[in-house]
Amino acid sequence: MPELPEVETVRRQIAPVLEGATITGAEIVDPRLTRPVEPGLVADALVGERIASVDRRGKYLLVRLESGRTLVVHLRMTGSLRHAPAGELPDDAHRRATLHLDTGSDVAYRDVRRFGTWELLDEGHLRPYLATRLGPEPLVQSFSASRLARLAAGRRAPVKAFLLDQRRIAGIGNIYADEALWRARIHPLRPAGELDEAELARLHRAIRAALRKGVELQGSTLREYTTPNGTPGGMQREFHVYGREGEPCDRCGRQVNRIVVGGRGTWFCPHCQQQGRG
Ligand SMILES: [Zn+2]
Repeated sequence: MPELPEVETVRRQIAPVLEGATITGAEIVDPRLTRPVEPGLVADALVGERIASVDRRGKYLLVRLESGRTLVVHLRMTGSLRHAPAGELPDDAHRRATLHLDTGSDVAYRDVRRFGTWELLDEGHLRPYLATRLGPEPLVQSFSASRLARLAAGRRAPVKAFLLDQRRIAGIGNIYADEALWRARIHPLRPAGELDEAELARLHRAIRAALRKGVELQGSTLREYTTPNGTPGGMQREFHVYGREGEPCDRCGRQVNRIVVGGRGTWFCPHCQQQGRG
């Protein structure tokens, strides 16, 4: 699933295509994308809108329209955006929607597994929509180690599950949670509320370093993710533990293990990330 670095990469590539452009036509061919709202209603509402900006919050892409409404796009498992000059998008059985722009570009949304969503929200609904779903952004200045400590305080959940909970911290998924915990040398099953100050400081640095690395390498391409330019990301070549069961740890050379935490495959080094206090 695309996480913060992948969605941020999509945002950076698609923003120059969308910002300032007016939507002259919209086709939404999959009712699952907009349900329970009729896809035709969303498409009609988009036509004539000028796109003010493209922002990101957690794993959501926010296409802000000059009317004050926002198209909230969540790529979920396998959603992606592609852009091309008008009429030059390749044929694609998995295309769910297309936007035609007055600049001559077409932007296509494709989704193999079809879990992605498009929701058109007005100004008054966007803020509570995001506030109930998302904690702070981990890469902004105000996300300090003490902020992380306050979020973790009293949490009995394993730190891996804590990191995946979008209501605590926005944008971290399975890949960057495992990579951050490896960097911080913290066992994924440690209760979040039991981490001491030094561990929280390490985790804070590790979260930001892992996410920044992902952004720098334009995300990780495992299955369906590609950037809007059609190129793969490079982060998958830099994983320290994610998906590397049985391979040597980059730090100590011992074997990376795989366990399941909260239903999610979890990779870690049992030597560098011990259960006891670190
Ligand atoms: Zn190790």
